[in-house]
Amino acid sequence: MTDKAPLKLLCITAHPDDECFGFGGALMLAAERGIETSVLCFTDGQAATNRGTAASSAELGRMRRVEFAASCKILDVTHHEVLDYQDAQLEFANFSQTAAILVERIRSYRPHVVLTFGSDGGQNTHADHTMVSAFTTAAFHWAAQAKRFPDLGPIHTAQRLFYTTSSFFFPGRPSPLPAPWTVTLDVSSVQHRKFEAFRSHTSQLPLMERFESFFKQRASTEHYTLAATTRPQPAAHATDLFAGL
Ligand SMILES: [Zn+2]
Repeated sequence: MTDKAPLKLLCITAHPDDECFGFGGALMLAAERGIETSVLCFTDGQAATNRGTAASSAELGRMRRVEFAASCKILDVTHHEVLDYQDAQLEFANFSQTAAILVERIRSYRPHVVLTFGSDGGQNTHADHTMVSAFTTAAFHWAAQAKRFPDLGPIHTAQRLFYTTSSFFFPGRPSPLPAPWTVTLDVSSVQHRKFEAFRSHTSQLPLMERFESFFKQRASTEHYTLAATTRPQPAAHATDLFAGL
């Protein structure tokens, strides 16, 4: 660590429930070590196929905000926030304005490590995931540059950017083109709580029922790709997102 401030992790996602299987292990392991965690989710997920008891999109969005808060509690997330972007429409969002929102969040929260999707769009190749990857990548770099958005607070250089990536393909879904991983995280000690967190997404339980046994065989590890770092270095395999910080 270069200063005495407590370590912080910022995770940027697209939909309520992305925080569970993609990033849940990393979030819980960080919390266990006293690292402060924050999840920023772009949309309230009101375009989801599974709609629970919701009578309208707006109602589903409200339900999913509550489910997201419950999930974040199980994952021991310190701060959580849902932005007001429209689900399934992120590819049409204004790039610069959207990245600016993230630059402001990064400069005010001052994370050491940032997690998000890779450019493949994750397991379901969702365009929202690809866009969140692009917005976050730009904001990670721009938050550290004084010439970018000088009105959005003092610059902050987060030390590492990681993309979640996958060691398997999902049955019955288009295959992503995943980045090779540089981090294998053993999350077996907390894997049961990923399922607990997902179950708090009550409106999405049909998804859980469909894929639970598939996930159970794969929930003990998470894979990440180091996408940016403050130190020039060869790609090396790691088992910890915070080693050396
Ligand atoms: Zn998603």
